[in-house]
Amino acid sequence: CKEKIITVVGSGLIGRSWAMVFLSGGYRVKIYDNQPGQASRAIAEIRKQVEELQEAQMLRGNLSASEQLSLLSSHDDLSQALEGAFFVQECVFEELQAKQAVFQAVENHVGEDTILSSSTSCLMPSNVFSLVQNPKRCLISHPVNPPYYVRLVELVPHPATLPKAMDMAFELMSEVGQAPVRLRREIDGFALNRVQYAIIAECWRLVKDNVISVKDIDLVMSEGLGMRYAFIGPIETMHLNAPNGLEDYLGRYREGMRRVLSNFGPTPEFDGEAATRITEEICEFIPSDQENLSARRERRDQLLMRLAKLKK
Ligand code: NAD
Repeated sequence: CKEKIITVVGSGLIGRSWAMVFLSGGYRVKIYDNQPGQASRAIAEIRKQVEELQEAQMLRGNLSASEQLSLLSSHDDLSQALEGAFFVQECVFEELQAKQAVFQAVENHVGEDTILSSSTSCLMPSNVFSLVQNPKRCLISHPVNPPYYVRLVELVPHPATLPKAMDMAFELMSEVGQAPVRLRREIDGFALNRVQYAIIAECWRLVKDNVISVKDIDLVMSEGLGMRYAFIGPIETMHLNAPNGLEDYLGRYREGMRRVLSNFGPTPEFDGEAATRITEEICEFIPSDQENLSARRERRDQLLMRLAKLKK
């Protein structure tokens, strides 16, 4: 696939990250943004980050920083940006109409076989691609922030997407070092956010009902479940946690799981007195001013960087 062109449409946080991931795989990356000057600002930012990563010996791929950067260009004209592209990764604002309009415009400038991929976090493929003439080559490639260290990509098909388009996206994502997973059909929230929201809901209920503090429920994840979940998922965890595997686990714990799950509360509203109290509690140890939040984000990214190294 080398020397092939990927166009990134939208050069904010996620567009920049995708560009860096594709460059690390040796692809030529053309960035387009409809805000004048934004794509060239993105290039300056990517340049800085790629050089810092090289310095920290965390640069991905086999090419040097300067080799990767020589594959990158910015364009203020959409048709120029799309010329020669075999894969388009859309990363514009999370607004349905904006995305629909982008794909309608993109389709006019690319061939039948060009794969059209959206980064949307929570819009359904059948909505995002509803104005596209040929949805067979359309899919969602949902990354996790920051994609350079957290490699999961959820591939979600439109009902008309051809298996070969899913296969191509899977191969591309694997080749550039991401960890793609396929959903067999579209579903609200995809897989990651459905699981994430289930965890958030129970954590919220436990704090709201005064069973545990905010600090302690976060430790339940970071010092407990999260330790294994960085390496093995919940199904493998069950399989390993009984002497004779999953069947054995179910025999031992099925009743307990059913009992506990049957007394989970209703979906939280995430507002009112509980929201005020939980916000106050987290702000006691992480105040929500920019300085404190940036420091914690920096710490998160540093830790993720080290974890990514360990997982390699
Ligand atoms: P962002 O606001 O940082 O960037 C959006 C960029 O798109 C801006 O540069 C803007 O100028 C550009 N843009 C807007 N309309 C455009 C158009 N019509 N044509 C070209 N460019 C246009 O947003 P982001 O955080 O990078 O999110 C982009 C997408 O990625 C969203 O769909 C979001 O849901 C998804 N996503 C975000 C995250 C995250 O954590 N930020 C994680 C996964 C997926």
